[in-house]
Amino acid sequence: MISENLVSLRKEIPENVTLVAVSKTKPIEALEEAYRAGQRHFGENKVQELVAKYEKLPKDINWHLIGHLQTNKVKYVAPFVHLIHAVDSEKLLIEIDKQAHKNNRIIDVLLQFHIAQEDTKFGLSMGECKLLLKNSTSFLNTRIIGVMGMASFVDDEDQIRNEFKTLRNIFNELKSQYFGDAPYFSTISMGMSGDYSLAIEEGSTMVRVGSAIFGTR
Ligand SMILES: *Cc1c(COP(=O)(O)O)cnc(C)c1O
Repeated sequence: MISENLVSLRKEIPENVTLVAVSKTKPIEALEEAYRAGQRHFGENKVQELVAKYEKLPKDINWHLIGHLQTNKVKYVAPFVHLIHAVDSEKLLIEIDKQAHKNNRIIDVLLQFHIAQEDTKFGLSMGECKLLLKNSTSFLNTRIIGVMGMASFVDDEDQIRNEFKTLRNIFNELKSQYFGDAPYFSTISMGMSGDYSLAIEEGSTMVRVGSAIFGTR
């Protein structure tokens, strides 16, 4: 099942779009099946679960932390995490930079933006982001490679599309104002099982797909 789902997803997703298999709550065996089918990018939203799975699975997996990250937990993922998707405060960025330095590495991160109508979702506003970027040149062990966002959980396609457009516009604005000479600033992480096609149409370069690969949680 899992490998078949991956095969059909890969047919749908353009080559330049990274497929992150969101494996939260799923057992090791499910991740192993995806791994055998060639999947190398996995996403988890809880630090403890991410670390436990990292320890058990092959070391050529790229681990994405896609959920909200508390500063006191950064140290557990800093030695190995491939990409942190949900940076939503300067405080968090400072801690990631510190832990990356301790581990003698540079950690890639995305800035999470609040694009959904619902006010429960985490994320920066443009104003908060600009304050954060003002000081970001002092972060030598962190590399901001793009943006991430989640659309509202609604059926209204136009609304979802508009929220993705908003994130795309934010990306373009940041690129031109702050990252013009930084080719690595190139990632727009948006789109999940229910809306990845819309997200790709609106410029996503990275989709985070869980239930469409592993089944419902
Ligand atoms: C769970 C989760 C996903 C994947 O959701 P599905 O609907 O199962 O594809 C994507 N992004 C984030 C941040 C998540 O927490």
